[in-house]
Amino acid sequence: MSTVPTHLDPEDWDSFRAGAHRMLDDMIDFVAAIRSRPVWQKMPVEIRSELRGKLPEGPVPLEQVHRDFMERVLPFSVGNAHPGFMGWVHGGGTVQGMMAELAAAGLNANLGGRDHAPIELERQVLRWAAEAIGLPAESAGLLVTGTSIANLAALLVARTRHLGPEVRREGLEGRRLVAYASDAAHGCVAKAMDMAGIGSDNLHLVPSDENGRMDLSHLAERLRTDRARGAEPFMVVGTAGTVNCGAIDDLAGLAAFCRAERLWFHIDGAIGALAGISPALKPLFAGIEQADSIAFDFHKWLQIPYDCGGFLVRDAQLLHQTFATDNVYLRRETRGLAGGDLPWPCDLGPDLSRGFRALKVWYSLRVFGRERLAAVMENHCRLAQSLAARIAAEPRLEMMAPVALNIVCFRYRFENDADREMVELAADLQESGEAVVSTTRIKGQVVLRAAIFNHRAEERDLDRLISAVLRLGAVRG
Ligand SMILES: *Cc1c(COP(=O)(O)O)cnc(C)c1O
Repeated sequence: MSTVPTHLDPEDWDSFRAGAHRMLDDMIDFVAAIRSRPVWQKMPVEIRSELRGKLPEGPVPLEQVHRDFMERVLPFSVGNAHPGFMGWVHGGGTVQGMMAELAAAGLNANLGGRDHAPIELERQVLRWAAEAIGLPAESAGLLVTGTSIANLAALLVARTRHLGPEVRREGLEGRRLVAYASDAAHGCVAKAMDMAGIGSDNLHLVPSDENGRMDLSHLAERLRTDRARGAEPFMVVGTAGTVNCGAIDDLAGLAAFCRAERLWFHIDGAIGALAGISPALKPLFAGIEQADSIAFDFHKWLQIPYDCGGFLVRDAQLLHQTFATDNVYLRRETRGLAGGDLPWPCDLGPDLSRGFRALKVWYSLRVFGRERLAAVMENHCRLAQSLAARIAAEPRLEMMAPVALNIVCFRYRFENDADREMVELAADLQESGEAVVSTTRIKGQVVLRAAIFNHRAEERDLDRLISAVLRLGAVRG
């Protein structure tokens, strides 16, 4: 007779509890002492190969699996919890958000639909997002993995607006839809066009000006020529905080243009949309409240643990027409667990089964409050200005783009082969463990990009970054 239990609960709840408390302490210790660690370190090859075993046949004790995690996984993670991490655009996360993740996993709710409180929480945090952005409370949306998928969902709603809900059955039928974004827009917008079957070539990239903002006269001209040759423009995507340098498109200008031309106005607000919680930053985004749809990320500037993005659509009915389906096994009733307020979340997006992302947002927004989260964002903008001033004052460094928010693009002045050296310098820096920046291209040149998104970041982290760049840059010449 096999003695393998046919359930998955612990055999001994007391020893499970003790092990679970140790895991919790380890994670709290990790975050509390994050500054004592390198920002990033490369995973050694031996450890990488140790993680490539066969499917486990029998049980490994929880303590052992946790030890493996602590020794082989945790030290070799991205490092975005560390205040020296300024690479790409990554939020730092919080221990309060971590606790909410624990509660959400314990509850194991499925937020596809039905009548339960977790769905109310999701509706609530979306109303809070709408309030921060300035959209009407009746706007509808969902929490999703991130802005990449949020942009796709919004694009599909814009497609429904242009072609009618029949497009879902009939497809594009040879119609040539065209959308616009600036050449500084995130690559996921083109990918959304591709995934929606419209084609990434049909996202026309409008040149951005020296401040990284879409040039509206170019946009108007491009629209005219596209219409003249029989294409069907349907959407403009404005960016509220470009990934390269944090530039904010002229959102009020784009809103007026879209109204006049009867185009859907979508905003990629991955970086900036939720900065509306700060009265000091909100004016930078004037016009954002006029969008037809907005995509945003909670896991970036708002520090909610990964993953969590969202989108909102002003016309709730159009969103419903884009995603709702009618399956017998998902019948909605007027009472019982199959009741509940309509629409169900599965009618507002691509997923049926959905986790309880809303809980970590709800915890975080309540535990910190708007004011404190706004203070984090405002501090990042101050730090970015301070970093820019130091770079400008340092003869071996050069600022490469205006600082609109919290992203600083700069270069080390190399004599020869500057682009190549810049890429190497970024890698030297990452491998030093002292700081992490990434690279991008501005006006054809490779630059270092420090994106200040970690709520733990302070002036001393900028000191460390500058001195490491100068030291490692000097080694390269
Ligand atoms: C990060 C980012 C995205 C993609 O968002 P994900 O959450 O990574 O999917 C899109 N647009 C901009 C401007 C971004 O910064």
